[in-house]
Amino acid sequence: MSPWESLSIMDSAKTDNRLLQGIGASAGIAIGQVKITDRSRVAVTETPVARAEIPAELERFRKGLERAKAELHALRENIAAKRGEEHLHLIDTHLLLLEDIMLIGETSALIENEGINAEGALKRTLHKLKEFFSGIEDEYLRERSADVETVVERVLRNMVGKKQEPITAFEGKVIIVAHDLSPADILQIDKSTVIGFVTDMGGKTSHSAILARALEIPAVVGMERITGEIRDGETVIIDGATGTVIVNPDQNTFQDYLRRKLHYEYVERELLKLTDLPAVTIDGHSISLKGNVEFLEEVPSLKRHGAEGIGLYRTEMLFFNRDTLPDEEELFDAYAAVVRAMAPAPVTIRTLDVGGDKVLTDLNLGDEMNPALGVRAIRLSLRQPETFKTQLRAILRSSALGKVRLFFPMISGVGEVRAAKAFVAEVKAELRAAAVPFDEQIEIGIMIEIPSAVVIADLLAREVDFFSVGTNDLIQYSLAIDRTNEHLSSLYEPLHPAILRSLKMVVDAAHAAGIDACMCGEMAGDPEYLPILLGLGFDELSMNAVSIPRVKNILRRCTRKEAEEVAAHALTYPTAQEVESYLKSVIVSRFTESID
Ligand code: PEP
Ligand code: MG
Repeated sequence: MSPWESLSIMDSAKTDNRLLQGIGASAGIAIGQVKITDRSRVAVTETPVARAEIPAELERFRKGLERAKAELHALRENIAAKRGEEHLHLIDTHLLLLEDIMLIGETSALIENEGINAEGALKRTLHKLKEFFSGIEDEYLRERSADVETVVERVLRNMVGKKQEPITAFEGKVIIVAHDLSPADILQIDKSTVIGFVTDMGGKTSHSAILARALEIPAVVGMERITGEIRDGETVIIDGATGTVIVNPDQNTFQDYLRRKLHYEYVERELLKLTDLPAVTIDGHSISLKGNVEFLEEVPSLKRHGAEGIGLYRTEMLFFNRDTLPDEEELFDAYAAVVRAMAPAPVTIRTLDVGGDKVLTDLNLGDEMNPALGVRAIRLSLRQPETFKTQLRAILRSSALGKVRLFFPMISGVGEVRAAKAFVAEVKAELRAAAVPFDEQIEIGIMIEIPSAVVIADLLAREVDFFSVGTNDLIQYSLAIDRTNEHLSSLYEPLHPAILRSLKMVVDAAHAAGIDACMCGEMAGDPEYLPILLGLGFDELSMNAVSIPRVKNILRRCTRKEAEEVAAHALTYPTAQEVESYLKSVIVSRFTESID
């Protein structure tokens, strides 16, 4: 929307300047008129059903499922025609859920055994599944319950014959406000009319947030009650980076955000000019800037932002939301699609990083007192050799299709690396014997995210081809700060001297052994930290798509020498606050003219 179109919205709006706060899900500022889209849950009540009516009730449930499937197939075709094949697996996940044995079996059993109507039975099943999900500690996995809810909602609507308002065909430029939006809704958004969305539900890692980022639509989620606090046609500003929503802005706020919006778009446009330029310092030192992904959908945005490959492909997603483990073919198809989409650039695939109470499948090992310190990641893989080998086979097979690197999460000692590598050797031998192609020279690395791995980095470096520092966990375990606990967030300090010293030890140990030191934790994507990370000697930084040009912008304005001085100086401070203010002064004095 041009600024002038926005201004005409202002003329007709009242200006109570209401400030609401949600979770920033996809960066960008949008200013437009609210279009409330009814995504509220259908109201259903549980009623008893006479014995004789039970077969008819089961049939109604079956028809509801069938109609939901037919709708999803039609939607699949529509989206394939509009956006191509790359987004379809989200629809496929929903189609798979409609085949889910628990969903169907439990609901049918309730109808038969309890003598209740299909809607009531389905609601009870949903409740049970949601309870299960809510006990899951991992935010990302917890939010997968939204998929089950969306699918159940579709079946319920079909049973009660209540159609959902379409998300297409809007007049002018609108910001959709909804209780929740499903991935299918978001895939249908036409960016020429829908300039952003806000939802009551969702978190940073919900499917809708991931898709909004992939499609680069500004979005704020997790507002809790916005659908009850805002009306159709009101003017709204959303800031998808900070999660701020302002309803009926006054003239000053409006002008301020209009300036910010234009600035953001200018910066984004300018930074995108860096896409094809090398990530190299003034004095010719290069660092490889790569991207982190979980979904194939994220690849186009990574490429647009100039990623030189994928430095972290998290593979947890396919193991969730199901009763049975994915088989080798399913895993291979997923990895192959990402490898092909990125080729010839490298894709670094991490083996499964779940465990304890984090999995729905039969991997579940029961309750643990401290899941973060429990049977997770490589510990789980080594205890479940068949699951591990299935994943390794799929990863190795995908290495025949492009450049693939393989790495293991949560390594605490050399024994685990050797055990994991022994499985790789076993799988390689099996593939060789069966004449299945794979890259014999595939590089094998480890995540450095446990303090013990830092302390023995020199010993670990002899065993692998590269290190990748997971700062999200390294900070959590080094400082004993739960990374998901919002009450401790001020203590979660990437610039803590213990963290900086750890990073230095890791890089030095890697280089002494002649291997690459990479980083794929969130710290890698903060442009402010770039001078330190460059100065410490990191060879590769992997981050979310929009951070890539921002980090590159600073990198291209630095010399290696000055970065080394910054890192050395930063290491002399006793507190994170002092490092922070020193770093800020460096950024202000050296990079204020930078476009960001
Ligand atoms: C990390 O710990 O920094 C990391 C990249 O892994 P994850 O966030 O998936 O635990
Ligand atoms: Mg981690």
